[in-house]
Amino acid sequence: MSNESEHVKCLIIGSGPAGYTAAIYAARADMKPVMYQGLQPGGQLTITTEVENYPGYPKGTMGPEMMEDFKAQAERFGTDVRYGYATAVDFTGPVHKVIVDETKTITADTVIIATGASAKWLGLESEQRLNGFGVSACAVCDGFFFKGQDVAIVGAGDTAAEEATYLAKLCKKVYMIVRRDEMRASKAMQHRVLNTPNIEVLFNHMPKEVIGGKTVEGVIVTNVKTNEERTLNVTGFFVAIGHHPNSDIFKPWLDMDETGYLKTIPGSSKTNREGVFAAGDVADKIYRQAVTAAGTGCMAALDAERYLAAKGIH
Ligand code: NDP
Repeated sequence: MSNESEHVKCLIIGSGPAGYTAAIYAARADMKPVMYQGLQPGGQLTITTEVENYPGYPKGTMGPEMMEDFKAQAERFGTDVRYGYATAVDFTGPVHKVIVDETKTITADTVIIATGASAKWLGLESEQRLNGFGVSACAVCDGFFFKGQDVAIVGAGDTAAEEATYLAKLCKKVYMIVRRDEMRASKAMQHRVLNTPNIEVLFNHMPKEVIGGKTVEGVIVTNVKTNEERTLNVTGFFVAIGHHPNSDIFKPWLDMDETGYLKTIPGSSKTNREGVFAAGDVADKIYRQAVTAAGTGCMAALDAERYLAAKGIH
C-alpha cells in the first residue's frame, strides 16, 4: 500500500447523472471538485440505448452520449474527473477519508456519494446478450419503445407490479412472470395488476431463456410446479427483481434502510455525518430516474457549498 495522500474540498464518488450534476454545480461554485468515476463510468445510462424522457432533448438521445455530454459539461468548469473506485471510507472525524483503489488516500472536507444502484439480473446468458435490445431493467425508461406490442416482465414486488401496470397502458399485452404462487407487492398494487385486463399473471413460472438473434423474439418460461414449458411471443422482456444500492462501503458510518439505501434528512441531501451528502439512486428506491438523480445531485452540491461556507472553509 502506498502512502499517497491528497486533500480536496469536495470529493464526488460516482459518475452518473447525480455525480455529474453535483460536479457541475460544485465546480461553478469554485469548490474544485474531484470525481472518482467508479466501476462503471457514466453509470446505468451507459447500458441503455435511447433516452427520450430527459427534458431538453426533444429528439431523444443515446444514454452513453448523454453521459459524455454530462462529463464534458462538468469538465468545462474544471471538475477533475478521474478513473478510480472508492474501496473504503472513514467518516470518523470532520475531515473525511476515502481510499481509492485500495492504495490512494484522499481526505475531503465534503463528500458527495453518488454511487447509484445496480439492477439485479436473473443471470441468463440470453438476458445479458440482448440487454438493451429488448431486454431492459426499467419499464419507465424503455416501455415506450414497445408501444402496441406484447411484452413480459419478471418480478412480483412493488416495482414489478407498478411497471406491469405502466406497461399495460402502452402495450397490447403484458405477461407478468411470478416465481411463487403469490406476489410480494402491496395488496393495493396486486389488486391493480389483477384488475388490469391486458395483464396476464403467470404464477409459479420462471423465465428459462430469452429468444432472439439481434432483438428479443420471445421468452421461454417454465412452470416450476409441473416443469411444463411455454413460449411467450413477446418483443420486450423487463426484469424487475430488485436493485442493489452501491452502499456497502458506507455501512459502518451512514444510516441506511434494510436494503442499503442511504437515508438523507428529508428535503435535503444530508446524511447522518456532517459534510457527507448523498444523491441519486443510492438514496432513492422509489423514483430512480436520471432527472431525479440529477436534481438531487444539484441539491448535494448546494448543501456541500453551504456546509463549507458555514465552517469557514474557503
Ligand atoms: P423487492 O425485493 O420487493 O421484490 C423483488 C421481487 O422479485 C420479488 O417478488 C421476488 O420474488 C422477485 N425475484 C427476486 N429474484 C428473482 C429471481 N431470480 N427470479 C424471479 N423472481 C425474482 O424489489 P422491488 O424493486 O419490487 O422493491 C424494492 C423496495 O422498494 C420494496 O420495499 C418496495 O416496497 C419499494 N417500492 C415501493 C414503491 C412504492 O411505494 N410506490 C414502488 C417500487 C418499490 P419473491 O417474492 O418470490 O422473493
